[in-house]
Amino acid sequence: MKVRLMGQPIPVIGERCSHRYLGRPVGHTRLSCPPLQVLAEAEQAARLVLNNALAPWQKLDALRAFILPRLTATAPFDAELRWRVKGVLQLPSRACQEYLHASTSRGCVGLTELASEADILLMASQWQLLTSPDEFVRETAASQLQESAAALLREAVRQAAAERLYRLPHHGKLMQTIGDQRVSSHYMYSGSFTRFAEWRFVHRAQLGLVPLNGVRRSRVRGDERCRRCGYARETLHHVLCDCMPHSAAFQRRHNA
Ligand SMILES: [Zn+2]
Repeated sequence: MKVRLMGQPIPVIGERCSHRYLGRPVGHTRLSCPPLQVLAEAEQAARLVLNNALAPWQKLDALRAFILPRLTATAPFDAELRWRVKGVLQLPSRACQEYLHASTSRGCVGLTELASEADILLMASQWQLLTSPDEFVRETAASQLQESAAALLREAVRQAAAERLYRLPHHGKLMQTIGDQRVSSHYMYSGSFTRFAEWRFVHRAQLGLVPLNGVRRSRVRGDERCRRCGYARETLHHVLCDCMPHSAAFQRRHNA
């Protein structure tokens, strides 16, 4: 039998599915356990965005603006998303997560930590339930306050990721210097003055992950000499500032 309300059939909620009522998901599911259809749709959208022909900084923008807000509590998707975003940044999978999750105001990617997001939403939802025993007015007021509280918490999570990044021994100090001035990371949110070649280089360089002879991570110490001039140790500083076969490029950079 189909129950109708004013002529319209009342939708039936399936197992592990939800329905949005007044902007909040309701159904046979807890917030920490995401509705299947939301997860599937968001995953598909994320794959479409990250695999298409947009410029890499546009992919990140689209991900932050349109996809992540839909993933209300999808911690299982966290690892795959990080792996794909590292691909967009041309970073190897061992690159630290803090660079992805720290705020764009600190020169990083500003990707939402979905595991923390689940906690934030669970807390916000509980709080809303506690403060709205009554009807519409309280419900509306609570949801508005909940939104701003969630936004504050989200930014706090990003700032905490930046602090963890700054404490890392190899590149913390460098990232702190970049984070001090927003213009130092303009390539994160705009394609201006950035070529694809620079995008492929800049994230690896900031995190000390450029494959150079003098900075191998493995215990096996091979030939550390510069592949161009034979200098004793091939480091990023040597390649960018001291290696004489590149002197014409240094001059062009100086005059630019
Ligand atoms: Zn050299």
